[in-house]
Amino acid sequence: MKLRRKTTAAHKLRIIPLGGLGEIGKNMMALEYGNDIIVIDAGLMFPGEETPGVDLLIPDISYLLERQKNLRGIVITHGHEDHIGALPYVLSRIAPPVYATKFTRELISVELKQRGVKTKAKLNVVTPGSKIALGKFIIEFFSVCHSIPDSAGLIIHTPQGIVVHSGDFKIDYTPTVGAPTNFSQLAVLGVKDVLLLLSDSTYVELSGYTPSEMVVSDTLDRIISEAKGRVIVTTFASLVSRIQQVLDVAVKRDRRVFITGRSMKEIVNMALKTGYLTAPADVICRLDELRTLPHHRIVILSTGSQGEPTSALVRMANRDHRSQVRIVPGDTVVISATSIPGNEALVSKTIDSLFRQGANVIYDRLAQVHVHGHGSREELKLLLSLVKPKFFVPVHGEYRHLSLHANLAQSMGIPRDNIFVLENGDVLELGQDSGKVVAKTRVGVKCVSGLTTGELDDVVLQDRKLLSQDGVVVVTVAIDAESGRLAGRPRIMMRGFVDGGEEQTLIEQGQDVVLAALNHDRRRLSEPGFVDARMKDSLNRFFYERVRRRPVIIPVVVKVGKT
Ligand SMILES: [Zn+2]
Ligand SMILES: [Zn+2]
Repeated sequence: MKLRRKTTAAHKLRIIPLGGLGEIGKNMMALEYGNDIIVIDAGLMFPGEETPGVDLLIPDISYLLERQKNLRGIVITHGHEDHIGALPYVLSRIAPPVYATKFTRELISVELKQRGVKTKAKLNVVTPGSKIALGKFIIEFFSVCHSIPDSAGLIIHTPQGIVVHSGDFKIDYTPTVGAPTNFSQLAVLGVKDVLLLLSDSTYVELSGYTPSEMVVSDTLDRIISEAKGRVIVTTFASLVSRIQQVLDVAVKRDRRVFITGRSMKEIVNMALKTGYLTAPADVICRLDELRTLPHHRIVILSTGSQGEPTSALVRMANRDHRSQVRIVPGDTVVISATSIPGNEALVSKTIDSLFRQGANVIYDRLAQVHVHGHGSREELKLLLSLVKPKFFVPVHGEYRHLSLHANLAQSMGIPRDNIFVLENGDVLELGQDSGKVVAKTRVGVKCVSGLTTGELDDVVLQDRKLLSQDGVVVVTVAIDAESGRLAGRPRIMMRGFVDGGEEQTLIEQGQDVVLAALNHDRRRLSEPGFVDARMKDSLNRFFYERVRRRPVIIPVVVKVGKT
């Protein structure tokens, strides 16, 4: 008979995803043991069509607010927005110490400054390989390769056993910038007992390996050396390794590099200062020197890879007078990025405009000008086989990614009962031999709209959706203060609802509908709320019957007469 190892742990380990499961974005996960809680990442998400008018979404931190005194720290794996973007909002409410690698910490500072947040929270720098103790947790960072410098995975020692968090990762044996994924730190773990692996599921749908960054260097070199005119490269500002590749090719092909776009300038300056980017002294030039060089000596690095309307590239594409660069025939534009889901239409439109102005545009469907930053199936399998965890929880993915990753883990020999496909808010309790989802904590959607943070309820979102689809109708009635009767016909104004021809008829008929509805219950005209509701209901029904649409109806009641 096999002897069970005696457990000395007094508590179970609780794993509570607060964001990032069932979605790609707003990653945040709490680990809890006894009276100690640590949090991994605090990211944001850019909203889709379900939440019009909302600028961004952040995780609900109610669970943490209720247990503030137990919160020992926030550990950040890397500097992408879906991992650090909620920090300005989180740290303005609670101030636990934050731990991150150097480059990530720099980006957190920039983020806090941009949002005007002053926090008491201490931002600590951690070097990969070193350990920090937070309550009963001891955390070790290990380097992983990803699309931003200084990315880390985490080895977390808990009284229940070791937890490994992959961070966002891929395996690149020939990265251009930074350390490759640190296998030695991981391989050691494989011979120990790893309790739980939490691993990135983003590209579980892709078979094989994610190609090396090296492939992109070769393509960029070919494009830049063959181009007769200027080459404009756009990529994510945080993709420092790509920026380094462009700088290297420019040096090799005797071109100067110009940088345009606020975030691109900011990150390039920061990365040069901190040593994450290197370039010979005179390679990067000021934009006002652009005219002094012949076109075949110019490379321009620009923001706008997602077709963002205010970005440098889109301004160029639209001949915006604020643009410092004008597209001319003979320019080559390289879109060295993939479109984040939801941005495809904006990117296509930008590409069309660039072509229309005579530029030659090269994007990922035409040449390998981009490789993504997450591991494909073979890399995910490699991590599973290195770490050999007892339990497995797929993270960083929509539900189908998590399910597919769970299947992959099962095919690698992890028993189905030891694999948990969790959703935000699930509370998973792990002992040494078994695990169970024991509760569900509240995780509503927190929206940030302009400067206000709050929970936008369904009504507000519903209204915004209608406004964008069906327009708005404002209906005003005047009520005589003295007699309490209607003074004149109602006024109706419409925006974005029907086109001009139909508008006048609908307005006139709408006025009759409102009059009839109000006159029917003439005595109730002074009741608060009655007029509003009646106007809304009657018009709603009328418009729907006539044109099958439901515009947002705004009733306005004014009292007129002697005051
Ligand atoms: Zn990332
Ligand atoms: Zn991510």
